[in-house]
Parts: sequence; structure tokens; C-alpha cells
Amino acid sequence: MDFQFLGGADEIGSLGLVLRDQGRTLLFDYGMTPSDPPSYPRPVPTNIDLAFLSHAHLDHSGMTPLLSRLPKARLIATPVTIAVADLLTKDALKVARMEGYLAPYTPSDIHALHARFTAVERHGTFRHRGIEVAFTPAGHIPGASMILYKGERDVMFTGDLQTLPTHLVGGAEPLECDVLVMESTYAGRDHPDRQETERRFRDKISETVERGGKAIVPAFAVGRAQEVLMALASSGFETYLDGMARKVNEIYEAAPEYLADARRFRRALERVHIVEHPGDRARALREADVIVTTGGMMDGGPVLYYVGEMYRDAKSSIYLTGFQVDGSNGRRLLDEGTLIVDDTVIRPSCEILKFDFSAHAGHSDLVRVAKESRAETVVLMHGDHREALRDAIEGFTRVILPENGKSFTL
Ligand SMILES: [Zn+2]
Repeated sequence: MDFQFLGGADEIGSLGLVLRDQGRTLLFDYGMTPSDPPSYPRPVPTNIDLAFLSHAHLDHSGMTPLLSRLPKARLIATPVTIAVADLLTKDALKVARMEGYLAPYTPSDIHALHARFTAVERHGTFRHRGIEVAFTPAGHIPGASMILYKGERDVMFTGDLQTLPTHLVGGAEPLECDVLVMESTYAGRDHPDRQETERRFRDKISETVERGGKAIVPAFAVGRAQEVLMALASSGFETYLDGMARKVNEIYEAAPEYLADARRFRRALERVHIVEHPGDRARALREADVIVTTGGMMDGGPVLYYVGEMYRDAKSSIYLTGFQVDGSNGRRLLDEGTLIVDDTVIRPSCEILKFDFSAHAGHSDLVRVAKESRAETVVLMHGDHREALRDAIEGFTRVILPENGKSFTL
């Protein structure tokens, strides 16, 4: 079996893995890095037979429209992943247009991809000409799957995974395989206790409201915004939601079997005021205690409008809820206390804090997944400091740290 990463081996972004086995060429994920400017993985081989998509986040799905140009590639994913990936790739085109970047594909590529998709339900198995591939929930976000290819040896591709249950989805269960290709986002780091984080998050919002301010909560549209809304469900705060997350809510509501507790999700949303039109934003500014809004790294989206209106208000707060990549506005805010809004550098007077709502397994859980997989080889991908994880795993099995572009055979 021959493995080659097109991107994402040693970085959190632009993931793509080509697996050649018994005359077949398979692709696992094909993502981009939505940085400024965006970056892309290597070109995909034209002879891809089947492509499997673990989940919809852009660093895994953002380049899949290009597969529609290949002669025969089919793309297999859960229905939720297919719907959200369609939304995100269309949004990526919009962002490219607004920022003035040349997009790597066109709206017609996204449309043409619809005919290439085959949906496999969670826990489903895809069979095609002797190929058998089993999907199993990966935690992380609704629809996210770990993908087990049963070939010459059993290869498990984790995509992004979370073993602990969250409000939104149950945790992933480790599965046995021969080769485990595992994400390493949190190599060397464990998360603080989630319940404690949420309690502190709600306490800090209460403090903000009591001193007469509002909390702006930047959140990723896919998974994070919904998790935050569920964490706030019984808090009694006047909560507003703005940005693309509302479209993702509709996809999740239509697929209740992909949620840990669909009723609780619906109830949480019933309490939330949705900003439908830009005109509703003035009302949100007047009446909200909390405004949950995209973009999660503050590089675009309605969050910049709210921050632009409120940054002089020392009573208000900006509470980040996600990973802030180097070079992003959110990272700049945490490191230097400044932000760029409409080409102007501003220094908010608001309270700035970050809360760990991560949807990725921490270091100790990744080690446990590797151990319980009983894999003969663990391939560590999708991490920028994988060595800490390698050091913890190589005591009980062989570990490979692949490099982008370089093939290796197992
Ligand atoms: Zn992800």
C-alpha cells in the first residue's frame, strides 16, 4: 500500500491523502487553508477512483469541487457532510471574491460535484467493485466520520476526532485497524475540564451583563456556534445569533439522528434570536446580552460589524471560543490586543478572553485511541507539533510522521 499526502501532513490545513492499493487510487479529504491569502494542497492525481470526505470543515473539504473535473472520481460522505460542504465551498468562493483572490474553482464546479456524491449514513458501509469502506462517527461535529478502508490491510483515516461527548455530538469510539492515520491537532496538549470552562464562560458573561455591557462571542459557523448556543441554553441570557451558522442550524435540524440530543438542540435554538437581515443588527446591539457570530477568527463576517460598533465600550467583552491561527485577527487580538477592521487598526477597550471549546481530542485521548486501535503502524497527520505524540506512542507501536508530497509504502 502506497501513501502520499497532498497537504496537511505537518500542518493544520489543506489536508489530502492519496492511498494506492491493489490497482485503486483513493483520496481521503481534499481541503484548503482559509488563511490570508489562502493556501492549497498539491494537485490531485487525475486517476482518482473514489474520494472519501471525513467532514465538512474547509481544511478537509475546501478543494473537493475540483474533483468534479476528474474523469471518474466519486465522492463519498455522510449526507450532513455533503450539505455543509456545499455551503462552505460556496462561501469560500464568496470570500475569495470579496478579498480579491483567484479562487481555485468556479460555482459550476461546486454544482457539478453534486452528481459525483454518494451519501453513506453514519455507521454505514460503502461497497463498490470489491471495495469495502466503513464509516463510523468521529465526534468532532455532526456528520464527521472516521473512515475504515478494508484493503490489503485495514486502514483507518480519522479525519478530525473527539472522544469526549459534547452538547452537540457523542464521542468517537476507538476501533481496531492495521494502520491508523490519525489527526494530531492537540499533540502535546490536553484540554481544561469542559464543564469548568463552560461555568467560567457563563460567569464571565454574567459579569459583563451586570456591569452593563454585552458579550460578543466569535464562533465558527460549523459546530462551534451550535455548541456555544447549547452551552448557553439554560443561562437566561438574551442571546442573538448572526452569520452563516444559522444555515448550518437548518441542516442539523433536518438530520436529528446526527445530534447527541436533537430535542435539546431544538430547544436551545428556540431561545435564540436569529439576525435574519442586516437591519436586525441594530436591535441585537440594543437588546442582546450575548451575540454569537461568525467569523470565528474575526477575519470577516458580521463579528467585525459588532466589534466596530462596540470596541470603545470597556463594559463589553469579546470572548473567543476557537483556535486562532497565526496571522488571524483573533490571534492578533489575543497577542497584541489589536484588530484590523476595515483596514484600520483598532484597540478594543473590551475585556478579551479565550475559552477552550475545542472539538478535537486532547493529547491523552489521542494516545488512548492509538493504543486501543492495536494498529501495527500509526501515521500522524494534521498537526504542527506531532513529535510530542510520536514520543508517547512509539513505546507501543511504530509511528510515521509523513511529509507533504513524499510517498511511503506500508
Ligand atoms: Zn474539523
